[in-house]
Amino acid sequence: MTHQRSPAQQAIDPALPQLCADVAVFAPLPRPLSYVVPAPMEKLLRPGMRVRVPLGRRSAIGVVVRLRPSGDEQWELKPISACLDEEVVALDGDSVAFLQRVSAYYAYPLGLTIKTALPAGLTQQKAPTAIQHVHYRATGQEAVLRGATQQAIYAFIVSQGEVAAEEIRASFPHPHAPLRRLEELGLVTRTQSTSSRDPFVGLDIKPDTPPVLAPEQQQAVTAICPDTEQPSTFAPFLLHGVTGSGKTEVYLHAIAHVVQVQHRQALVLVPEIALTPQLVKRFRARFEHQGVRIGILHSGMSVAERHDIWREINHNRIEIVIGARSAVFAPLQNLGIVVVDEEHDESYKQGEGLRYNARDLALLRGQMLQIPVVLGSATPALTRFERARAGHMTLLSLTHRALSRPMPVVEIVDLSGTKEPCVLGEQMLTALQQTLDAGEQAVLLLNRRGFSPYLICRDCGATFRCPNCDITLTWYRSKGMLTCNYCDYTQVPEEVCPGCGGATIEPQGVGTEQLEHTLQEYFPTAAIARMDRDSTRTKGSQQRLVEQMENREVDILVGTQMVAKGHDFAAVTLVGVVDADAALNFPDFRAAERCFSLLAQVAGRAGRGAVPGRVLVQTRTPDNPVLECALSHDYHAFCAQELPMRELLGYPPYGYLLNMICFGLNRAEVEQSAEQLSRLLRTHVEVEILGPAPCPLFRLRNRYRVQILLKAATRLPLHQVLARLPELIAALPTRVNLMADVDPLDMM
Ligand code: ADP
Ligand code: ZN
Repeated sequence: MTHQRSPAQQAIDPALPQLCADVAVFAPLPRPLSYVVPAPMEKLLRPGMRVRVPLGRRSAIGVVVRLRPSGDEQWELKPISACLDEEVVALDGDSVAFLQRVSAYYAYPLGLTIKTALPAGLTQQKAPTAIQHVHYRATGQEAVLRGATQQAIYAFIVSQGEVAAEEIRASFPHPHAPLRRLEELGLVTRTQSTSSRDPFVGLDIKPDTPPVLAPEQQQAVTAICPDTEQPSTFAPFLLHGVTGSGKTEVYLHAIAHVVQVQHRQALVLVPEIALTPQLVKRFRARFEHQGVRIGILHSGMSVAERHDIWREINHNRIEIVIGARSAVFAPLQNLGIVVVDEEHDESYKQGEGLRYNARDLALLRGQMLQIPVVLGSATPALTRFERARAGHMTLLSLTHRALSRPMPVVEIVDLSGTKEPCVLGEQMLTALQQTLDAGEQAVLLLNRRGFSPYLICRDCGATFRCPNCDITLTWYRSKGMLTCNYCDYTQVPEEVCPGCGGATIEPQGVGTEQLEHTLQEYFPTAAIARMDRDSTRTKGSQQRLVEQMENREVDILVGTQMVAKGHDFAAVTLVGVVDADAALNFPDFRAAERCFSLLAQVAGRAGRGAVPGRVLVQTRTPDNPVLECALSHDYHAFCAQELPMRELLGYPPYGYLLNMICFGLNRAEVEQSAEQLSRLLRTHVEVEILGPAPCPLFRLRNRYRVQILLKAATRLPLHQVLARLPELIAALPTRVNLMADVDPLDMM
């Protein structure tokens, strides 16, 4: 609930200093603005509270970051219009200090930094009210439908049985009119409910018994939680444990100590919702029956649900928060430990707006609060590993799988001799058959969504391209639609080639949707499921897939890198990598690291139960040294191979990067601005400047993009450049924008 107070008439006595508030307004402003605190608000207002303030001729929301007596302001300050928080503040003092550091580090306005940190429900004028969940179900007999979109939407609803409105909106442009028509025709019915369908609540979970830790696990727990009740100090740990070595068990024990002995709170970050169901279940099984309350923050939650959990945390009603990236901002006021699971995962980095990396912010928050931070991974990011090796973090290693289970055997399948389109080689098919015969499960990785990445005209070779981006449209046969995976532009393909009028338009290349079909043809009786961004759009769908895998209702799971992440399915004995080369040939200095990590992670899904696992990796470059390291699960060999190359080029971990992207609608303006900018930047002698060069995705959502990559041996000179950002932006033509990405990962 928010109560709004209107400022009462204020008697101004010039002799008395007035109370002023510095407010970080949710707007792109370089610094907080000052306002007068109206007398009735004086006793109540505290830093961290949300207020409504006048801003020009409008009103805006912001957070009070400082209260102070009025000084020698040069003009008369306006009063705060209303206070939007009661006793409980939106952000405690520690959080305000933390966000000030974040804002400075990423050179991003404080008001917008705070806005990013708060759940959407707290950044609007009105608190969110009950949510409506709208679903569509196919009911009628198929009639003759006019309009391709109507047809496509109807086919989609039929194929899914029941579909959430949000999923239809995500898949089709302008679906409202066609949906209304389908309803009128009695072909679909619409149901509406206000109940939450959050997959994580309401499940009955059996309490578990903590296993006896293996010696390496015990050592790790003891290092993280020394047996004292002394106030802790900042202690960063890198927990490097092979897949299935029991890292999660280490987190559970360390957190039990923090929560039950030190009576402090724990924050657990996980890369994506994909990982959450199983992990959440393990935490609930371990803690809930002991009265420890767990709060989940995941991307599938509605604004209102997120708002509610945030408020619960604000009120100190939750001891353990588990969540994705943005949970790093959760307002826990007595935090005692932060755990970042799968710390290498690039989804910790936000790709737009405040481009923060939650893993790095976890370390910053731990440092400011003087508490331990545990980063866990089977394949730590090379930068982290180097930090640990240099003594800046404590390295903890788990070298064996739990219960002495063996690592899976990895075999390279050489496809270099086969004809071009070979999706599933002989060896893979035989292995799949054996797995099915044995009643075990298989996981197949193919990092490409859709039915195929192109539709191509056989006559003239033209492909369908996105009108907004420099990219071909992906063909989704199930929806009968071509879609841009970057901007979500969608169209029904023409029957004939728009270029030459040719009538033979064919899919080219293989995505997960097609692989699923092909497998079904090879193995008609097998239950095949798909896990990718398209099949897991709706709430709970990810959870259902994981459950189906656990209950062994699925024999073969096909998917993108989502299948590689953290899952613990005991009956998976075969993992197949359909195309290892796709990851290797990526134009980025991190390609090898990403490929090694992906292979090690997906291989780690095999043989976690009693039966040993087997991994088949299809490639046309079998001699690639990265594959060799993956073959032997040898992270250290991979580091020994990769780090010298990074050092030679001054790339991370031996240097720091700042990517500056000029973008705008006019190509010539963007290119000229980037040239001009790079000349200005060349005055910084300690910074090496690469570019300007067109981004690999030169046009995205209609904007042309040119990047300048800045590289330096230390952070300092890059921060000097960042400090000039407002000045640099001011020097650009108004129609060209400049975006700075600190510690960039995705440089497409
Ligand atoms: P990781 O997080 O490193 O992939 P997990 O913590 O998921 O590994 O452990 C893998 C499996 O081994 C899980 O099923 C877990 O319950 C089990 N396990 C972990 N540690 C132990 C232990 N000390 N004793 C028995 N089983 C364990
Ligand atoms: Zn596009």
